Formats: sequence, structure tokens, C-alpha cells
Amino acid sequence: MRKPLIAANWKMNMLRWEAEELARSFLEKVPDLTEYTDVVLIPPYTVLDVVKGVIDGTNVKLGAQNVFWEEKGAFTGEISPGMLKDSGCEWVIVGHSERRHVLGETDDMVKKKARAALDYGLNVIVCVGETLEERESGKHIKIITGQVEIALSDLELETPHSLVIAYEPVWAIGTGKHATPDEANDVQGTIREITGNIFGDKATDVRIIYGGSVTPDNIKELIGESHIDGALVGGAGLKAESLAEIVKLSGE
Ligand code: PEP
Repeated sequence: MRKPLIAANWKMNMLRWEAEELARSFLEKVPDLTEYTDVVLIPPYTVLDVVKGVIDGTNVKLGAQNVFWEEKGAFTGEISPGMLKDSGCEWVIVGHSERRHVLGETDDMVKKKARAALDYGLNVIVCVGETLEERESGKHIKIITGQVEIALSDLELETPHSLVIAYEPVWAIGTGKHATPDEANDVQGTIREITGNIFGDKATDVRIIYGGSVTPDNIKELIGESHIDGALVGGAGLKAESLAEIVKLSGE
């Protein structure tokens, strides 16, 4: 049985005092939360320490929004998997659509990042998803298949529960439009098949989550009517009330 995962990606938001307030207020609202759901807060690098200070001693985990694949050296501006672990991170996102589309990250880079992070013992959320144009032209399954196959190629999967694939249609991120449970299910089925082909039985424990305009109003419909194992939450994760509500509803 796969435990649901709710991961809140705060993107490039939150000064130190704001991050502290949000993390504290969230914890107050869901004191006994992670019996039924894994919860990860994913703030910007600059406030990792602040959030860590608040969640220490709870079941809530800390994650980062990106990682580089090398261990150390002349890579100005990059952060290594070891540095993330050293900062208290247990999770990292790779291949978020904003990194792919705004910063030109390629499938090959996503693959290197995923491999480096897993090798370092981090849990990894690999994001994949199609643009509106790709969906409207019926190419979405082909696009997602390519993204998943490249990201997972040559991965040694020692601990399958450390790998999470987030299906995040680009047209649903920050737009208020979310995929229907059928659309999420359809892509989830494809990803499940690919992970099965690559990892065999181990793939059963790989979680496939959904991201794109998830809110307290749609989380139950999305999770309840599909086979997805949780959500990557952007905007709604910036408010303690909505994030707490999503976490609670995901476990019901
Ligand atoms: C995201 O950033 O991964 C995301 C899904 O954002 P939002 O929930 O705001 O659409």
C-alpha cells in the first residue's frame, strides 16, 4: 500500500519571517498529520534552515526545489545533493516545468539530477507534463513517455518509495485549471506501465502524484476518483489553512 504524499512547493516565495510563520501556522493546524500522509515542505534554499527549525521533531520533512548533479567544484550558483542533505533536506524536486520551460532544463539534465539525488539518499520528485499545445494536438502521452523514460534510464532503484513521479500538466500549473480525474488517471496509467517495464516488481512502491492547481476544493475528487498517490501543491501551499486542509482531506 502506497502512503499518500503531499508536497508543498513554495517556489520563489517567502522571506525568513514569512517562512517561519507559515510553517508554524501549518503545524498548528495539523498536529498529528503524518500518520496517514507523508508531508514535505519545499521552500527556497534561503529559508531551508528556518523551516527546518520549525519542523524538527515532527513528521514533516524538508525538501529543496532543485539540485545539481556534481558533488562539488566550479559550478557557480549550483547546489549539490550533499549540500542539501547537510541542510536537513530529505527530498528534492527535479525537472519542475518552470525549470524546464523558463530555465531550459532538458530531459538529460533531469536524468542526471534524479540519479545524483537518489545516489545521495535523497527522495526525489521527478516532474513531467505536457504543454497545452501538446495536449491539444494529442501528443501528450508521447511527450510524457519520453520524459519519464529518459529521466529514469540507468537509475538503480534501491528504495522504490524514494522515487515519486509528479504528473504536472503545464497548462494546469498556477492557472486555476486542473486535470480531471480521468485525465490524471490516463497519464498515471502510462507512467505506471513505464515504471513497471523499467523496474519490474519494485515499481509497485513508486508513487505517482498529480500537480496543477490543487486546492482543498478539488483534492478529494482528484485523489478519490483516480489512482494518484498524492499531490504536488504550489499556490495553495502558500497558505497554512489551505495546505492543512489538503493534507487532512488527502488522508480521509
Ligand atoms: C507546482 O508548482 O508544482 C504547482 C502545481 O503549482 P500550482 O499548485 O500553483 O498550480
